[in-house]
Amino acid sequence: MRTEEKANSGWGLFKATLDAALNFVYPPVCQLCGEERAAAREGYVGGKCWTGVRFVTAPFCDRCGLPFDGDIIHPFRCENCAGVEFGFRFARSAVTANAMMLDIIHRYKYHQALWFEPFLADLLARQAKPPLAGAPWDLIVPVPLHPVKLRQRQFNQSERLARCLGRVLGLPVNARVVWRVQFTETQTRLSRPQRAANVRAAFAPRLGKELHGERVILVDDVMTTGATTSACARALRKAGAGDVCVWTVARGT
Ligand SMILES: [Zn+2]
Ligand SMILES: [Zn+2]
Repeated sequence: MRTEEKANSGWGLFKATLDAALNFVYPPVCQLCGEERAAAREGYVGGKCWTGVRFVTAPFCDRCGLPFDGDIIHPFRCENCAGVEFGFRFARSAVTANAMMLDIIHRYKYHQALWFEPFLADLLARQAKPPLAGAPWDLIVPVPLHPVKLRQRQFNQSERLARCLGRVLGLPVNARVVWRVQFTETQTRLSRPQRAANVRAAFAPRLGKELHGERVILVDDVMTTGATTSACARALRKAGAGDVCVWTVARGT
């Protein structure tokens, strides 16, 4: 096989073929309820199911972005943050990780349901663009997958979402600044302290001090306690980032 054929036979070609196939093979039907019309550009989520989206709106924790019920006028820190030093300056999420969102993200990540991508990318972009567009951010970095997991899953969902956000904001995306040095098992069944201990040393700068004070937006699909994004943000600071904020599609509790 010649070099250019090798290059073309990778993910790019697979994705292009997949996109073309989706447009022809998939009927324009909502992939959640199967009962309403929904097009490829809408990520196959119809209007009725769209009403299940819960955007994160104020008031929320100043630091970790956890939404809060009630009227709070002043900036505040939530219990999730009490006594915790995060590696990022602040974290925000587009929507609440309710059952519908977790189902979509699970199918996107683990079952290659890439047709949901326009829907997920749109949620992130419409919430993140207004506050980020006017602020001086330099670079977008996705939370990396361990190379073994990347091979199993074939794609890093955070990197794909980061690239979508990069296009919307007109910012470069660098997926090679930090890497995941530890293979961590799925965190969902672990307690909060267990999660934090599990990921503390999970990330490292790939090439040492590669950054020179750049202000970085760290992107992931879901944030729960913030342990993973915080550990990754610390590695970014070690790599030379001047400031790190976090944006995720969904926020769990
Ligand atoms: Zn539907
Ligand atoms: Zn908080």
